[in-house]
Amino acid sequence: MLADNTCYLELQNILPGRVRSGELMKKHTSWLIGGPADIFAEPASREEMQLTVSYAHERSIPLIIIGAGTNILVSDKGFRGIIIKVGSGLDRISVNDNLITAGAGAKLSRLAAAARDAGLGGFEFLAGIPGTVGGAVVMNAGANGFSVGTLAIEILLLNPDGYFIKKTKDEMKFGYRSSILQDEQTVVMEAVFSCYRRDKEAVREAMAAYIKKRKDTQPLQYPSAGSIFKNPPGDSAGRLIEAAGLKGERVGGAQISMLHANFIVNLGGATACDVLMLIDRARKKVLECFGLELKPEIKVIGCF
Ligand SMILES: Cc1cc2nc3c(=O)[nH]c(=O)nc-3n(C[C@H](O)[C@H](O)[C@H](O)COP(=O)(O)OP(=O)(O)OC[C@H]3O[C@@H](n4cnc5c(N)ncnc54)[C@H](O)[C@@H]3O)c2cc1C
Repeated sequence: MLADNTCYLELQNILPGRVRSGELMKKHTSWLIGGPADIFAEPASREEMQLTVSYAHERSIPLIIIGAGTNILVSDKGFRGIIIKVGSGLDRISVNDNLITAGAGAKLSRLAAAARDAGLGGFEFLAGIPGTVGGAVVMNAGANGFSVGTLAIEILLLNPDGYFIKKTKDEMKFGYRSSILQDEQTVVMEAVFSCYRRDKEAVREAMAAYIKKRKDTQPLQYPSAGSIFKNPPGDSAGRLIEAAGLKGERVGGAQISMLHANFIVNLGGATACDVLMLIDRARKKVLECFGLELKPEIKVIGCF
């Protein structure tokens, strides 16, 4: 079934005021790129999420779940179906001894700050990584050798058919920027993490050092989605793209960053097609020069 006006009106009954039709996804991505979603919904409770997901499932309407949109490239043509944004209302964080329970919509900066304020170590590496807990669980977000999956104990999920289930860390099969939840309609609702006691000041200093490193090495003044490609074993995608001579390469408003070649920045007015062309160019050139096939880290949404 299509996500049409009937669908919009029916969802308005489930989520009054939190459904929009034709919402431009550029408003919900860190790249500031993306065309209209037929339906855009922001459930603000577990029950609303359950009803929305079941609604799409029962009618076989294509569904995509997003968080802060910091790791996605949405087509200029948008998405024919429902996009659910997991955010406010599903962003509670609580600390109990060394355990932190975080709603999927909580920003990673809040999670890192909550750990620091409770005198807990483990999440320092999150300093400067944008996005939400849900997106970070799906992607197993990480930096400097640490990742979210390492600290996870249990994840609460909502299946496409509307049932809640819990998965242990082992069941999530966390790997390098991956988990079992790739390109699925399963929603991450909440995660429980185990941290360890650490002096607040030491946590604060470690976080400040990570942020400084990012400011020095990443083009944070421009809209981007962080690293485009995963690093191949023993090497870095940025180094390979730079060595292939593509630093500064431009298509339309998109550019392979002059500062960090694994970032594609939006200099203004970039389209998803511009970005995709640069991604393709980088992949082909690195393959040609070094015989290495780079694998994208970012997720592409919609048709091109
Ligand atoms: C400047 C910058 C720096 C970055 N640095 C890093 C870094 O150092 N390390 C790193 O790992 N990442 C980094 N990123 C990428 C990004 O911030 C992380 O991957 C983040 O965890 C994505 O979270 P999100 O909420 O934005 O997810 P989104 O981009 O919204 O979604 C990412 C994927 O997760 C899915 N998803 C999101 N939320 C849910 C949910 N609740 N349930 C089910 N599926 C969901 C989406 O469908 C999509 O497949 C960076 C990005 C930027 C812009």
